[in-house]
Amino acid sequence: MTNSASQKTFPAESPPPQGKKTPQSGRPGELEKSPQSGRPGKLRNMMGIETSCDETAVGIVDQRGRLLANVVASQSDLHSRFGGVVPEVASRQHLLEIPGVLDRALRQAGLGWNRIDAIAVANGPGLAGALIVGVNVAKGLAAALDVPLIGVNHLAGHVYSAWIDTGSGTAVQDPEIPAPKADGPTRTCLIVSGGHTELILMHPDGRFRMIGQTRDDAAGEAFDKAARVMGMRYPGGPEIQRAAQTGAPSAPLPRAWLRGTDDFSFSGLKTAVIRRARQEGLYPPPGGGPPKDKADALARAFQESVVDVLVNKTVEASERLGSGEIVLAGGVAANSALREALVQASKIPVAVPPPWLCTDNGAMIAMAGLVELNRGARSGWNLDVHPGMRLAS
Ligand code: ADP
Ligand code: MG
Repeated sequence: MTNSASQKTFPAESPPPQGKKTPQSGRPGELEKSPQSGRPGKLRNMMGIETSCDETAVGIVDQRGRLLANVVASQSDLHSRFGGVVPEVASRQHLLEIPGVLDRALRQAGLGWNRIDAIAVANGPGLAGALIVGVNVAKGLAAALDVPLIGVNHLAGHVYSAWIDTGSGTAVQDPEIPAPKADGPTRTCLIVSGGHTELILMHPDGRFRMIGQTRDDAAGEAFDKAARVMGMRYPGGPEIQRAAQTGAPSAPLPRAWLRGTDDFSFSGLKTAVIRRARQEGLYPPPGGGPPKDKADALARAFQESVVDVLVNKTVEASERLGSGEIVLAGGVAANSALREALVQASKIPVAVPPPWLCTDNGAMIAMAGLVELNRGARSGWNLDVHPGMRLAS
């Protein structure tokens, strides 16, 4: 067993954080709080901790949602030999990684602990043992610093990644943080990740309503499983995207439209991929590796099928619901074919964060924590993990 989880910070193509680096004048452990609400009087910087699955991540945003730090230690190398995430391995790796990731996030932001004014943590949904690591670290930090602790929904984090100001602006058109009593058009949010495929209606005041979800596999899970059948590594999404770029056109694979509903289904597509992979001699994996041209063509057909369904159903729902903007988020939103197709098909603006904010990260948890704290939310020391937590009913 190796501990060589790969480390990602700001990718080369992304701008360094633009946040102001104020001198370290903060008084350690001191924070003005309004006694009734427990809200901070002077919130400057919010730290977000994310350990729900296989990324150990810490991000920092300032009180206006400007990105100051985003450090992600991905465990994908560790899990790739198993073809998916092994929960016990993930929890153990979070424990090993979190101290270093916290340190690097502070250094990236140019801040000392005395400049962190609140700690947000994803406390669900996700793997129980993995979430427990983040939640307990967050509790310890909030207690030691005497700052508010805010448990946030990981999926709300994905949505609010579109509100992070990366230095070149926010993905959403109007960066105003949704607040109680706000009015205006709704947003239709498509969250697509390894564990989720959900269409969510977001009201101008920030309330969420679930309008559709997958009935079986999540979109990212479908990418990961299809990749395995084609002899590609975990996580499958980036591998399939790469292969699809050089893949030749071939007969289309099925699409589950589930007409009359806003739900999704990808298990039939998975079965069709396995069937075609067998016909093409890709699966079971032949000695000497799968023929690349056949794998690439299958990757292209698979990606086209997933993108077609996601795009058409999202645009149809957004038009029917009269939304003013679409938000595309979650790991699969890093897929360039999906991003381009949705922008092209939609008549209304599409907010999609840069790919490095689509996959799991701590900055999105910090941003969601900022929204919650602005609303007066604050968690108690009994904050627990909720592996099956839902975003909306
Ligand atoms: P989680 O599912 O734990 O919330 P993420 O939000 O980071 O984690 O999403 C991870 C999923 O995103 C994986 O299933 C991965 O295959 C998928 N993914 C990542 N990049 C791409 C891409 N470029 N195209 C398609 N899927 C992708
Ligand atoms: Mg996620």
